[in-house]
Amino acid sequence: MADQSFPITGFSSLAIHAGHRQDPNYAHLTPIYATSTFVYDDAEQGMRRFSGREEGYIYTRWGNPTSREAEEKIAALETFGITDDSGDPLRVKSYLQSSGMAAVSSLFMTTLQAGDKVLSHYSLYGGTQEHMNTLLPNFGVEAIIADLRNLNIVEDMLKQHPAIKMIYLETPANPTIQCVDIEAITRLGKQHGKLIACDNTFATPYLQQPFKYGVDFIVHSTTKFLNGHGTAVGGIFMGRDVSFMQGRTYKIYKALGGNSSPYDAFLLVNGIKTLELRMERHCSNAEKVATLLTSHPAVASVNYNGLSTHPDYAVAKKQMRHPGAMMSFELKGGLQAGIHFMNRLRLCTRTVSLGTCDTLLSHPASMTHYSVPKEQREQYGITDGLIRMSVGMENVADILNDLEQALNES
Ligand SMILES: *Cc1c(COP(=O)(O)O)cnc(C)c1O
Repeated sequence: MADQSFPITGFSSLAIHAGHRQDPNYAHLTPIYATSTFVYDDAEQGMRRFSGREEGYIYTRWGNPTSREAEEKIAALETFGITDDSGDPLRVKSYLQSSGMAAVSSLFMTTLQAGDKVLSHYSLYGGTQEHMNTLLPNFGVEAIIADLRNLNIVEDMLKQHPAIKMIYLETPANPTIQCVDIEAITRLGKQHGKLIACDNTFATPYLQQPFKYGVDFIVHSTTKFLNGHGTAVGGIFMGRDVSFMQGRTYKIYKALGGNSSPYDAFLLVNGIKTLELRMERHCSNAEKVATLLTSHPAVASVNYNGLSTHPDYAVAKKQMRHPGAMMSFELKGGLQAGIHFMNRLRLCTRTVSLGTCDTLLSHPASMTHYSVPKEQREQYGITDGLIRMSVGMENVADILNDLEQALNES
């Protein structure tokens, strides 16, 4: 096991070693602690555990050694190279969750109460949008959805709605790959005394570290690139105010019951170890795919942050190490062309989700957004011929060949 005080300088070294502790039985990998509860030597020890005077596990809904490794690993990656106000390495606290939506729900339940408002962008993950539109109002919380790419709008909203408690960002966002400026919005929000939260799922800490700009909370769906193999649904909720996280947040975490299964945590821990290697391949493949698509006669436009024609090119360049592996493109032939193209794919996978080894394509108009009225989805940029793609790690020539043969007929 690595010496805990070794000065790690690289992202992959951290992804491999951070959060790992020596197993009492000397297992190389942290085992799957498949146990609901933990035992005490005597009643006094139970008392010390429950009162918090002795560290140790009590019940898996409250914490589990396999999940802890994932919590500390992701926290280490999200804070890598970042210092706090006094120049010390930034410390954050995180809780592993059963899904990305459990992480989002925990964030909202922990930070918002009746009478509060939350400000967010209009291009969000569907489940998050649903939560804001239909769940939060039941608890007296109103969501204000605006175009946060325009900082004047952000400022106007903050002035008009003093009840805004938190600004919720998701960047890059689904499915048009829009980006918002984390640094500028955080600065504005902090001037008005607001909390800032960021969903960092699409970027991962390898490409973007929102804590660098002073955000208070980060959520992830670990289901995607962090796990990387599509083997488990999971999420994480992390915050920089450690005493708030260990106090109110932990209390709510235990009461909501959204903990991860230790088995899913084990899969996640082992997936994260190769994050940098995987992202490098995903990203370099994505560049070549974008080049093919932009020059193809069947394609009307390509939404990829690496293209200087993308409206958020500059923002992505400023806050991301690389524009990433997510893109969408618009086929000239509309709905029928979209369906035909999807049916002709021979190597790439027809499915929703993202961040797995294989290349995934979905057609929002006939799949995820089938039930959304056309006028409404077009407002969000989801046109009939739009295809969303998570570029995988296959040899790029094979991805290009498959896309080309499917496009040539569409
Ligand atoms: C998938 C996803 C979620 C929800 O995560 P689940 O693990 O499916 O619950 C939230 N935000 C973004 C950006 C996502 O892609």
